[in-house]
Amino acid sequence: MAETDAPMADPSNALSEWQNALADARTALAAWKQDVERAVAPFQAAEDPAGPGLDDAVTDAEVQLSQILGHFQRAYSTLMTSYEGAVAAQTGDARQRLEWQRAEQARTHRTQHAQIFDEGQVTIVTAQASAARALFDAATREWNQPRDCRSCGDVIVVGAVWRPTTFTCGSCGDKNTYEPAPATERFYDGPSLNAICAEQALSEWRTLRDAQRRYQSLAHPLPADFEMFQEAAQEWAQAQARLHGELHPAWDDDMVVRETEKRAADALGEAASSDAAATRQRFAEGANVAAGGDLTKLMQWAQSHPETAGMADLVSQLAVCIHEHGDRTVAWQVIALQHHVQRETQDRDDWMRDRLAALDSALALR
Ligand SMILES: [Zn+2]
Repeated sequence: MAETDAPMADPSNALSEWQNALADARTALAAWKQDVERAVAPFQAAEDPAGPGLDDAVTDAEVQLSQILGHFQRAYSTLMTSYEGAVAAQTGDARQRLEWQRAEQARTHRTQHAQIFDEGQVTIVTAQASAARALFDAATREWNQPRDCRSCGDVIVVGAVWRPTTFTCGSCGDKNTYEPAPATERFYDGPSLNAICAEQALSEWRTLRDAQRRYQSLAHPLPADFEMFQEAAQEWAQAQARLHGELHPAWDDDMVVRETEKRAADALGEAASSDAAATRQRFAEGANVAAGGDLTKLMQWAQSHPETAGMADLVSQLAVCIHEHGDRTVAWQVIALQHHVQRETQDRDDWMRDRLAALDSALALR
């Protein structure tokens, strides 16, 4: 029964299933977008904008989107497992072809996953923001409605009352405290204002997503990589916080600054920690020394970081770092040092070529 072994060594079944899953995900995403628009439409109506039930509708939409992505991810994982077996079973040109095919599918997966995820987020944010704008319109209508003085019944023009506010009657001088009207209260208490700010900052959000993906694709990012990520996070956080400051009566410049810092830090996550900064700095020093071409100095650099797992590991990581930043010539020199440090017995040139090929193939799969 030769066929029973065939699926393990031949990824073509898994490949066609993955391609079907990709097409299914596209179809499902288009249908999902229409469902989201239909589900959110009642909350954009003037009678009860952004009313109860909107949050549940958004949560449902998020769950369905993650199901679409989950199905797509499972087919991709199966494909990659299948390639792993197939690549291991082959040698020479046949292996090369499979590796090339596998890298091509990894690229497709990366771009398609990013596109589906981003399109999904934009759909949700846009739907929430359109309900929020309807609510904002209702709130501004409330601000134009005068209230009656409780003592003399004369009208008092109150404007945007967003929290309990006391007004002195112009006719009788009595003090009246008014609560915010319902739409105004809902607008300032709920997620609507954030939804409007998120929609306004979508273009900065896209730039941030790209910067974040690039940063996270690196095994050993350098300080310059972080700066790009940080700048994108700052722009996005600032765009949102500024609009929030303009639309919220209680927000002053200090709050905009504080909120910008907080949102940018949230977006950066672990990358903003001092440990991560120290690691980036260590690799930047190593890359610098390696670019100078002096192997003795490079060895000294590796020895000067005893806190890491070990000198051989550090040199191996430095080779990955320099290679993923595109400098194959310097990476080659570090691989030479790695051969020496690891006391490899295999022929030096063969070992180094294998090592470089392994770096190439690992990078292609990221
Ligand atoms: Zn009065």
